[in-house]
Parts: sequence; C-alpha cells; structure tokens
Amino acid sequence: MKKFRIVLLLTIAQLFGCARREQIKVAAQPPTPAPQKSSPPTIARLPSPNEEYLAQLQRSGSALEQLVADPKNAIPDSVLNHTSCFVIFPWTSAPATVERGFATCRNQSAWTSPVVVTVSQVSGAPEGKDLLLLLLSARAVDALRRGNLIVGPELPVAVGPMEQVNLTTVSDFQLQNKDIFGYEHQQNSLIGAALKTANIVADVKATQNLYGHRFQPSWLLARSTYASSVTDSFVTDVSSFFNAITPAGIIIHHSVLIPAKDLPNPERALDRFHYKRGFAISCFGRTYHIAYHYMILPDGEIRSGRPERCEGAHARGYNSYLGIALVGDFSSRDNPEGRKGPKTPTREQLASLVKLCRHLREKYNIPLQRIMPHSEVSRTRCPGDRFAFRTVLAQLEAESSSGE
Ligand SMILES: [Zn+2]
Repeated sequence: MKKFRIVLLLTIAQLFGCARREQIKVAAQPPTPAPQKSSPPTIARLPSPNEEYLAQLQRSGSALEQLVADPKNAIPDSVLNHTSCFVIFPWTSAPATVERGFATCRNQSAWTSPVVVTVSQVSGAPEGKDLLLLLLSARAVDALRRGNLIVGPELPVAVGPMEQVNLTTVSDFQLQNKDIFGYEHQQNSLIGAALKTANIVADVKATQNLYGHRFQPSWLLARSTYASSVTDSFVTDVSSFFNAITPAGIIIHHSVLIPAKDLPNPERALDRFHYKRGFAISCFGRTYHIAYHYMILPDGEIRSGRPERCEGAHARGYNSYLGIALVGDFSSRDNPEGRKGPKTPTREQLASLVKLCRHLREKYNIPLQRIMPHSEVSRTRCPGDRFAFRTVLAQLEAESSSGE
C-alpha cells in the first residue's frame, strides 16, 4: 500500500512535470531555471524533469548495458560485491561548463534512485571517455551521502582492476583499505583509470529537476528505490551491471522439493519455490527467481535457469560460480523411498551433466578443482549421497587428459 502511494505521488509529480515542460519550451527558458522567489514551494511549481539530464541518464544506462553484454569487460566479482555506491559521468561531446553525472548506492536488495552530481577541480581524469567510480570504503560512501566527495591524497581513486582469463581473481583481502576504484569506458572497452583530484558534489536543484519533486540527495542515497518512469531503467541497468559475474567455477546440486506431478515443468515449480525464498535477481532487464543457471531433467534434457553472467543464488559465498541442479532428491536420509522425486540421478542426467560441464569449462576456462558438489562448500547434504560426484569428476578428468 505504501509503495502504491509513492508510485501515485510520483505519477502526480510527473503529470505536473509534463505540464511544466510545455511552459518552459514556450518561454525558451535556460535548462535549469532558478525557482521564482515568490513561488510557494509546492510540487506543482517545480520545473519539469530536464531533458538534458534525461539524455545523460539514458546514455549512462546504455553504456552499462554495453559493458554487461561483453564478457571481456568484466570487473572482478569481489570488487563488484564490495561496491556500496556507484557514480558515473557520461562523456558529453558538447563543451560543458559543469560535468554532470549520477550517483546511486546499494540498499538492502537493490540500488537507490539516482542523484545528480557535478564534478569540478578534476585532474588526472580520462578525456573523451565515460568515467565510472566504484565506492568501497565507508568513508567514501559517507562523503558521497553527505553530498561532498573530495578525491585527493586523503581519499584517492585507484586504478580499477580487471578480471582476466587465467589470472587469479582479486581476493577480498586485497580490497581492504581500498576507497574508490576508477574505470574509463569508450567504444565498448573498459579499463581501469585513476583520478588525482576531483570535487564531487550532489546537485540538489538538478536532482529536483530530474524527478520534478523535492527529493534531498542524501535522503535518496540512503533510501530504497522509488518506482519512477524517469529513473527506473537506469536503476535496472546498474543492478544488471553489478549482478554480472564471470563464472569462476561450477557447483552441482540436486533440486529437491519438486513433486513428481511438477516434473513436466520443473522451472515453474522451482521458480515458485525460489520466489518464496526471495532469490530474485534483476539481470539484463529481467527478473529471475530460479537460483540455478541450469537444470537437468531425468531424461537428460538441459533447461536454462538464469543467464550465465547473472549472479547465482545457490551457494553462499560461491554465487560467482555457475549452479547446475539435477532434478531429484538424492539423499538416502531425506528421500529414502523416492517420495520427494527421483532418488538417484539417471544415466542420461549424468551424461548431460558431463557434457554441460565440459562446455562451460571450455567457455570460461574453469579448472577441474573448481567443479564441486554443494556439500563441499556449505553445510548441506546436497546433492545427496546417491549422487556419485567422483564418477562425474573422473569422466571430466579423463576427457581433459585425452584432449591434451
Ligand atoms: Zn545445493
């Protein structure tokens, strides 16, 4: 109900915004007119969402979409996971007096609606490229939330690391004491970039113009996401960007809890089950509930769950690994009689599993040691004692040694 009211409020705000946009056009006002001093501070009298900001916001969103689509532009998973706030300055070819960008912070489950920020006193920044800043430390986040982030010797922006095939990933330990990582983006290529100095300030007026509503930047950055046709697609693009993974390994599961009657459509049954458990993820503009990336049916058919580059929700601490679930419950303790679905994996299921693992290993350079049963990384019986993991591993081993 509360959410509905917020949506309604924003809709009303936007309706007024549309009316105002016409007035500005007719009067040929500059893009950010100062509010009349005599105007009472009501929503209706605020200027409309500024089209210039909207164009920049859209450009920022499409830059992120482009980056997610290409696996070679991958930022290490640990960096993405430790980022609490994100700022993007989209490159504008027009010689602007003020560089404008957008800031958003992670909240419990998503990213907050963006705030307009301006940057001045910049040195060491890339020219002619979009600039992306990933804020990791609490002091960097606090400064942004207070509305004044001063980059310099006290709070430096380090060159952002990139995920590279065959190199070890950045560990959580290496991220300690890191404040901000910088990246530059141009023509679908992303590389790390440092920044010597910059003064990034929340632009209260521009943020109000963007929403057509008196939102305080600090309040927005600390709160949840508001449904708004102005900023929704940007928030979705940011979520997809941070939910993208470069698969580092494979975790094997049994699906459990799919009653025999649901077997013809196990995705739907699992989707419902995972939906209830809150496994939703927004990735590539869609919401997925299935926690696994793949499911294998008893007849060996392989069905897709969430896309490979979307973070999984199948093993705590290992969600940058791909999750494959074999439909069934292979624990002799939990499913002794087979009442909870198939009690052993079928030969077809195992053959498909080996085939799928082989394909994914080649695609993402996954070493054999990073293919594991769920029970090896969590306190769980999954994928059950009737699942012969060693046989699967032996087959993969035999294949990789004969292939060399
Ligand atoms: Zn499992």
